[in-house]
Parts: sequence; structure tokens; C-alpha cells
Amino acid sequence: MTPLAFDARHLWHPYTNVLDPGPMHLIRETDGVWLIRDDGVRMIDAMSSWWCAVHGHRHPAIVGAMQDQLARMPHVMFGGLTHDAAVNLGRRLIDVLPVGLDRIFFSDSGSVAIEVALKMAVQYQIAMGHGDRTEFATIRGGYHGDTWKAMSVCDPVNGMHGLFRGALSIQHFLPRPCITFGGDWSDDAARNGLGALEQLLETRGDRIAALILEPVVQGAGGMYFYHPAWLRGARALCDAHDVLLIFDEIATGFGRTAELFAMDHAGVVPDILCLGKALTGGHITLAATVATEPVARGIGESDAGVLMHGPTYMANPLACVAGVASLDQLATRNWRAEVERIARQLAQELGPARRLPGVADVRVLGAIGVIEMEGRVDPAVAHRRAPETGVWLRPFARNIYCMPPYIISPDELSRVTAAMVALAGGAG
Ligand SMILES: *Cc1c(COP(=O)(O)O)cnc(C)c1O
Repeated sequence: MTPLAFDARHLWHPYTNVLDPGPMHLIRETDGVWLIRDDGVRMIDAMSSWWCAVHGHRHPAIVGAMQDQLARMPHVMFGGLTHDAAVNLGRRLIDVLPVGLDRIFFSDSGSVAIEVALKMAVQYQIAMGHGDRTEFATIRGGYHGDTWKAMSVCDPVNGMHGLFRGALSIQHFLPRPCITFGGDWSDDAARNGLGALEQLLETRGDRIAALILEPVVQGAGGMYFYHPAWLRGARALCDAHDVLLIFDEIATGFGRTAELFAMDHAGVVPDILCLGKALTGGHITLAATVATEPVARGIGESDAGVLMHGPTYMANPLACVAGVASLDQLATRNWRAEVERIARQLAQELGPARRLPGVADVRVLGAIGVIEMEGRVDPAVAHRRAPETGVWLRPFARNIYCMPPYIISPDELSRVTAAMVALAGGAG
């Protein structure tokens, strides 16, 4: 059996029909923005391999750091043991995070980081004598991962709620903030946009442990950008009702939205923050849940005392050194200028797609470009076309979008936008 035949017969792929997986590409190696197929065909990874590879693939400094670590200590358990890799990454994260977020729990994927955040919230509330605060609030259009509790706070329509009806715990879904990024924020808008949250917290606040959301940019739930001022209002309401605020920056962290973190657009600091995806620059899986001192202290001083979580591969040293090397890249390169240049070019080159029939909206924020269609887009079409266009895109729902590596050249980015516009226009 060829590798592709074996794959089609035996391997599951994400959100893919196991009996009819559609077009599949056998990738032999990666190089910067390029994915290189076994037969030598090259495609630009316009997805940064799902928001991760912000410095491009196989970055020499990150690979070098991992190779050094690999030669000394690929892994060791984190219970009772620690290592420089974790300590150094912890230091570096605290340096770039807002003051106050400094108690770091490393885990192995974004979904797990969300599980840990939700557990922290419940354990904190128990510690505060609020054992009946077991519910969560969130906004519609969100995506927080594929594990059970994370699924329960994903969008109830576009998420997996229909399929897993009855198996998911019921949470509270608020309308997504209606003022878009760059729209006009007024007191009226604030009242409209935050009224539902205020009402929920007034009637049900004493049962709610935390409000969880993606700040400013909702990713896999619909690629929606909303006004940062909403977050300031939400922070105040949560404070007034002793509800914790959890930010999921797994997709938005590390410069993607033109600020280092999306929360920086609002100047709001959550009680718990989740990081993942670009944390290692797309080289190896790692995630982090970062809490404030009061949250950590509350749990530490409670009867339980310990946070009830501990992944086998917690703070894997290979992943931690990749994280440090990735943060080094952000510190030494002018990522802000790179992202601003990408944003300008995306706006210029995607803008004309607004006039195409079937296009509902075109929007750009930082190094994220979206053509939203009126109807569903079949990812198989993009996958089939990729070898010709030389651009790897994976649309979902109604969105044709890109979030390229920050190192992409203007010429390469023009190929990406041309492929997106062609896909929107149904050409080819
Ligand atoms: C990808 C993603 C997750 C889940 O991360 P995994 O590493 O896939 O488990 C959670 N939240 C957001 C916002 C994401 O984009």
C-alpha cells in the first residue's frame, strides 16, 4: 500500500469523514512558509498550520534549541522535578504578560489548557465558599476546543451541541458583542451589548463560576472581530458579581491581531489566561493556563489545596525550549512591523472581493484576512486546487481565510490573496 492509500484506509483526520476523506497531500518537509509534497510540489502554508507557525516552519533557531535539549533531556516528569526549560519559559512569559498574570500551569494542548482553566475557576469558587458556582457563561460564536467541558462552552449552533445534545453540560450563552472591531462604541451600544451579561449575572450570577471568551477575535467559531471596549464592560460586571474572567488567547496570542495579545487592544487583564498554538512557533505541542495570584492563592489555601490536574507530559522540556526560542524571535524581530505590513496588504488585495457575487463580507485584523461568503465553502475544493495555485488554504463554514506566517514576503502574500479571491469567485 502506498502511504496515501494506507492513510485513507487507516488514519482519522480532524473533522473529516473517515470513509471519504477527500483530497489528501503527502507532505515530505517544510521550509519557512512552504509545505513541500513528496513529489516536490510546493504550497505556501497560508494557515500557519492552524495559527501556529508564526515564524515559518522549521525555524533554524527553534530547531537548534530543540536539538540541544533533545541531546540532553527529551523529557522528565514534572511531579517533584523541574528543569531550566520550564523555568526559562515561565520567566519569559511573565516578562511579556500583563502584570498580575504570573502563576503558570503548562499542559500539552489548547483544549487541555481550557479544561484546566475551567477547573481552576470551580476550585477557586469552592475555596471562596461558593461551591454552588458550577456553571459557566460565554458568548455565542466562540470556540474553545474539542474536549468535553471545552465543547460545552463552544458556540451552541456551529459547535457540537446538536450532535452531543444531552451529553454536554448546559452553560449560559450570551449574544456575541454586536459592535465590530473599528465600529463606533457609544454608551448606548455599551448598554445594548452588555445588557444580556448584566441581566444574566443579576439573575443567575450566584451559580456562575466564570465568564470565558476569546478576546476581540473569535476564531474557529466564525472569524468575527468585535469591539475591545466590550471587554472592559465585561470585566467590570464580572468584578461586581465575583465571577472570574477567563480569556482564551490560544489562537490570538503572540502578535496575530497586531498586539502581542488580543486583550492588549482593551487593556483588560483576565483572572485566568489560556495560551497555546503559536506558543512554540508551531514546532511542537504546548499550552499554558496562567492565573493571577488571588486565584492561585485561593486554590492553594483551600481544603483541597491542590489543583486537581497533572498531565503526564506536563512542561515537556523539548516544548519549553521551543517556546523560549519562539519568544526570542518575537523579541528580536520587529513582528509588529511584519504584522502591520501583512494587514495593509491583506486589506488592499482582499478588499476588491467585496464586489464578487456571493461574498458577504471582507475583513482584516492584524495578520488575519477573511472573505466571508453567503453560503458554505467546501474545503475539498481548496484542497484540490492547492497544488496549482501553490497556496494551502483550509476554509471552514462560510469563511475563506488566511493567517500566514509573519515572515511571508509580499510576493508570497499576493499569491495567497489571489488564491483566496479566486476561490471566492469560484474561478478555476
Ligand atoms: C485551537 C483552539 C483551541 C484548542 O486547542 P487544541 O490545541 O486544538 O486543543 C482552544 N481555543 C481556541 C481559541 C483555539 O483556537
